[in-house]
Amino acid sequence: MILPKGKELSSTQLAEVTAIVAEFGCRIQPIIGALRSIYAIVGDERHELMINRLEGLPYVDRVDRIQSPFKLMDGRSDLASHAIRLGGATLGRELFVIAGQCTIDPKNPNFFYETAAAVKEAGAQALRGGVWKPRTNPYSFQGDDKSLEILMEASRRTGLPVDAEVMDEHQLRLALDAGVHTIQVGARNALNYSLLQQIGRAIAGRDTAVLLKRSLHMGPIAEFISAAEYIVSFGNPNVILCPRGTAPAPDGYRNHPDESIVPLLKERTWAPVVVDPSHSVGRASYVPAAALAAIAYGADGLCLECHVAPSQGIGDDPKQAITPKVLKELIAKARQLWPLVHG
Ligand code: PEP
Ligand code: MN
Repeated sequence: MILPKGKELSSTQLAEVTAIVAEFGCRIQPIIGALRSIYAIVGDERHELMINRLEGLPYVDRVDRIQSPFKLMDGRSDLASHAIRLGGATLGRELFVIAGQCTIDPKNPNFFYETAAAVKEAGAQALRGGVWKPRTNPYSFQGDDKSLEILMEASRRTGLPVDAEVMDEHQLRLALDAGVHTIQVGARNALNYSLLQQIGRAIAGRDTAVLLKRSLHMGPIAEFISAAEYIVSFGNPNVILCPRGTAPAPDGYRNHPDESIVPLLKERTWAPVVVDPSHSVGRASYVPAAALAAIAYGADGLCLECHVAPSQGIGDDPKQAITPKVLKELIAKARQLWPLVHG
């Protein structure tokens, strides 16, 4: 990681450092910051001669070498001071809640508009809505491009930033062109490295964020953080980690609730952690307890499925979605708990 003396490198300086690292088989990935830009050396940066030549340049303040499998996401990285702002909230400084339907029903857009308004009223800062859905059964509703319109209309009506999962490059393009603020990578795709790279490339230079779910079979903490590194290595550091339960599940829960990994993530990365208790426990009645447990473990926020009329929803909503009333009570309790943990 190259830290310039000034706010950023000029194009001539950038060309010079690029040429030096290229001799050692590396490339430079600029990460543009509001106060100072930094320049990640992508590749094996252990070459002593390369470091000496870079440190000898008059416009280079220093070269930080972090021996970590995820040098950008690492808590010791210069990105550690990076703050992600979404929906008027700065993650890590105040409770952040993203809530909304699992699945937008294109035949009943009013449910989504009502849910969006209720979620805002309950105190959430961002709205989620599934446009395209990864379904275990190939004959289940797979989502609909039309739902993207509904999602963006709900964003216009409420002023809330919106999140939607994408599973391929076509959906990614549609979502970014429509102005989706947060791209969700689902549990099934958290290990799809080519999709992670496509997303990283596509959001570079934009202020789009990514909500990266933990995969169902992710064990080692490093595996999760490294998946985020795939995205961030293209220059946009707005990645939020989202534990959402893993396999195998105890009887009664949908997955094994994994909010307890929050401190382990916090020890190793600076990335904000927003826990999804809806998919971990998989039943509306268990969601509040799991959500509060996540905050107690130090999570920066919650991702919650919520629907104005869960029984009339589709996808996970009839089983998992909490009502806006429950959401409001839960947010109030989480806000009370927050200062006990973060204060
Ligand atoms: C969802 O958020 O509705 C979803 C499908 O999540 P996950 O990828 O965690 O299963
Ligand atoms: Mn869901």
